[in-house]
This record gives sequence, C-alpha cells and structure tokens, in this order.
Amino acid sequence: MRWGLIGASRIASSYVIDAIRAQADCDILSVLSSNASRGASFAADHGIVDSYTDLDALLTDPSVDAVYISTTNDKHHAQAMAAIAAGKHVLCEKPLAMTLAEANEMVRSAEEKGVVFATNHHLRNAGSHLAIQDLIANGRIGKVLSARVFHAVNLPEHLRGWRINDAAAGGGVIPDITVHDADTIRFHLSEDPVDVIAKSGSSGLGEGVEDSVMSVWSMPSGAMVQTHESFTHGYAGTGIEFHGTKGSIFARNVMTQEPVGEIRLVDAQGEAAISYEKHNLYHRAFGLFVQAVAGRGRPSADGVDGVKSLAVALAVREAAKSGNATRVDYGGF
Ligand code: NDP
Repeated sequence: MRWGLIGASRIASSYVIDAIRAQADCDILSVLSSNASRGASFAADHGIVDSYTDLDALLTDPSVDAVYISTTNDKHHAQAMAAIAAGKHVLCEKPLAMTLAEANEMVRSAEEKGVVFATNHHLRNAGSHLAIQDLIANGRIGKVLSARVFHAVNLPEHLRGWRINDAAAGGGVIPDITVHDADTIRFHLSEDPVDVIAKSGSSGLGEGVEDSVMSVWSMPSGAMVQTHESFTHGYAGTGIEFHGTKGSIFARNVMTQEPVGEIRLVDAQGEAAISYEKHNLYHRAFGLFVQAVAGRGRPSADGVDGVKSLAVALAVREAAKSGNATRVDYGGF
C-alpha cells in the first residue's frame, strides 16, 4: 500500500511514519505541507521522495492508495473530503472535524465511495486497554457501576502552539484529550454516553481555549463516568479505573502513547497484578487499517467511532459553556 501524508506534523514524524513503515509492503510516497520549504525538509528528513503544497497534486497521483491526515483539526474535513473524492482510503487524526455535521459527511462519503475510513484513536490499541477490556467483557468486575479517567498531563513545551491559543485551528484540551477519553470509555463499556455535565477553564496555558476540564457522563446501562483532562498538571499521572459489583480495576500510567503502565484487579479474592502484551500502539492501529483495506476485518477505530468521540467532546464543551446537562447528539449514528 502506497501512502501520502497530508500534514508535515509532529505526530507523523514521531510515531506514524515508523508505524506505516513497520507494515509489510507499505511505502510513503509523498507529503503535503502548506509551506514548501518545511515540506521539502520534512520529506528529506524522512526519506520521502515527493513533497507538495497542492493537495490536488498529491491526490491525483494514481500510485497513492491511502492518505494519513494529521494537519490541525480545522483542516481535516476539507482534506478528507478531497481524498475520498479521489478514491483514496483515509486514516484521519482525531478529532475528525470541528463539527458533527462535517464528521458525519466524511464518514458517509467514504461509505458511498467504498473507501476505508478510520480514526486514529491510539489508546484502544494499547495492550493495557485490550487487557482491561478483556477483564470487563469477561465479567471479572461484574456489572460496571462507574469509571474514572485521569488524563491531566503537562503539555510538553514543543506542543504549546495552536493547541493552547488557536480556537479556529481546533485548539483546547477537549478536542485534544477528552475526545480520546470518549473513545476509550466507549471501547471499554461498549455503549455511548447519553448526557454530560462539565466545568472547564484555563489554569495557566489556555488563551481563548480551555486547558482543563472535568465532566460526568451518564451511560445507558446506568454506569457513571467521571473524567479529568488538562494540559497543566505536571505531576498528576494518568490512569483509568472501573468499579463493578464484583471488583475494581485500577490502571495507572496507561493514558499514553507508549506501551507502559500497570493494571491491578481487586476483588473478593484479593489483589492481583494483570500482565499484558506491550506492543507499539501505532503499529497495531496501522496494521489493522492495512488489513481492512485488504478486505480483512475492520480498522481499530473506524469513522463512526470518530464521529461518536467527537460528539461526546462537543457535548462536554457545550455543557461546560452552558452549565447545563447536555444530551450527546450523535447525528443519526
Ligand atoms: P503539529 O503542530 O505538529 O502539526 C500540525 C500542522 O502544523 C502541520 O500540518 C504543519 O502544517 C504545521 N506545523 C508543524 N510543524 C510546524 C512548525 N515547526 N512551524 C509551523 N507550522 C508547523 O501537530 P500535531 O502533530 O501535534 O497534531 C496534528 C494532528 O494530529 C491533530 O489533529 C492532533 O489532534 C492529532 N494528534 C493525534 C495524536 C494521536 O495519538 N492520535 C497525537 C498527537 C496529535 P503543514 O502540514 O501545512 O506543514
């Protein structure tokens, strides 16, 4: 499979180029950047032959089978729509778009065109999260009563650009991190939040966008979910907990891009450390996408997963703004 990269981004250089090249028979042919010299140096640094500033030029190359979109969030929709129209398979970064209508349109258009469309939610590919999902699905904690997500981190200095000061580009901790937590909770509980309440604010970094948020979600099963996302917490550590009628799962340092973290199961038998396979999260996500394009299985997170995680994030933002409980609108999905 031959790929074009739409966006000369950090996530592409730090994780995704390696993940694509880790797949058998995958090659990266080209990269798109809005800046010719940045695109050329990105291409040279990563051994990519072609760099373009014109999206159509990248998309009209018939050798490109699939594109990976990792521009700022405001650009995903138009670029994905153009790629779908050109018949390319699309793996798009989260959040899929700025609005639910745009994300819906991307997913429906890909369906109509018959191309594979996926969302890069890396966390559900982690061995830790696969192990947690397995514990829950196998009834090890009984009926799930509640979940708590700890995802307040210190945004690294080199990422303190559009994420903290550019609402129009899609900045803010809600589109950046809450969207991942929404996907992770949906993955573990196999159900979609019904409504949410939330408070957000700036605690030192956000300029015109929130850098911190706490929210509570109700699930159709009756389970309650509590989340905390932030860019300003240097020492909080990340984690996720699930509490059920027969036991509790405590996972620490698992809301991360790396295959790390510890899981403990506590139940009537006592406390046990849960071991799991520590593979590269992005290698797994891109491997499943390549398989899906070959007609084998589905991507780790598909387009509908991306629509739903965005829907939850938008509801959290709306609830924080209005101060009211907000029903999550999935736009028909
Ligand atoms: P970057 O800020 O690195 O890149 C976004 C855009 O900014 C690029 O497309 C590029 O534009 C431009 N840019 C990059 N470097 C520079 C620079 N030095 N000077 C000026 N402009 C620059 O963003 P991220 O890689 O952090 O995020 C990109 C997307 O990926 C977002 O949608 C984000 O939500 C998502 N993401 C997902 C992660 C995941 O694990 N799923 C993790 C991190 C991000 P151009 O292409 O025009 O050159």
